[in-house]
Amino acid sequence: MSSTQPPTEQHVEDPTPEMRAEAPAPGQPAEQKQQNRMQARPKIRLFVEGRYEKFVRDLPQTVFFCPECKGRRKIKGKPCTRCNGFGKLTKDSVQELIEKFALPRFRCWNSKFHGAGREDIDVRMLGTGRPFILELINPKMPMLDLRELEEAINKECAGRIAVHDLRLVARNRVAELKEAKHPKEYSIRVHPANPVSPEKLQSLLADRLQVRQRTPERVAHRRADLDRHRWVHLLSFEMLDDGDLRLHVRCEHGTYVKEFVSGESGRTEPSLSALLQIPCACVELDVTAILAPEAKTEETGGGSK
Ligand SMILES: [Zn+2]
Repeated sequence: MSSTQPPTEQHVEDPTPEMRAEAPAPGQPAEQKQQNRMQARPKIRLFVEGRYEKFVRDLPQTVFFCPECKGRRKIKGKPCTRCNGFGKLTKDSVQELIEKFALPRFRCWNSKFHGAGREDIDVRMLGTGRPFILELINPKMPMLDLRELEEAINKECAGRIAVHDLRLVARNRVAELKEAKHPKEYSIRVHPANPVSPEKLQSLLADRLQVRQRTPERVAHRRADLDRHRWVHLLSFEMLDDGDLRLHVRCEHGTYVKEFVSGESGRTEPSLSALLQIPCACVELDVTAILAPEAKTEETGGGSK
């Protein structure tokens, strides 16, 4: 939108002692000289912010490195059997699809992808999309028609992803993006083990539910195992022809929605399964909205509240 102002931050790293160091002394190994030259080159970074939508259920947000070989493709000199020497478990990702079009245009070899949270690989990201920042490291083409980039991505990736509102932002947006606590809305297809009464469901719509969630087992290997407290608000529901339900819920940031549905044997309490007293499974999940971050409750001081 406000593309007239130049928020570009061509960030030059603070000079390190190596950068200030004098040229290598004569007789220093060539490798060392080369290394010094590399260190002396300041890094230019550009930050492109936008929002992405994801329309498929087989696409991770970022590169899905093989957990067996950690992306190295080989184990003890032999091709990794888990990924067949590919190094990754999926062909591409939201990150790679965007980079595929952005990097050549910026004449850039290296980038980082920052998302405002992430959805599971099998969860679609709909509505107005999820904020992200593509950090371009040492782009040789610093100015670019971002509208053209957007159109190229949306044309070539039609049906898989779309991006909107691409714009250059300052470096501090990365931290803001990472720290923002966005409530989210979801559309959930729920399969109940037994028929559910609409009256019972209706009674759950009134208020926010306070939910305690222990870290789900599926992510316990990479997240601290602890209890977190989150609110979940059931907004509406539909009874589908085959006995499944479609629920629309709004959740606090960081809620594990699939586990809110199943209850995961009591690791989440209360859960939809517990409230209905019927085992329920999350069949399909879509993020339908990423809402503006909630106002901080602590140290808001003054203000209208
Ligand atoms: Zn592998």
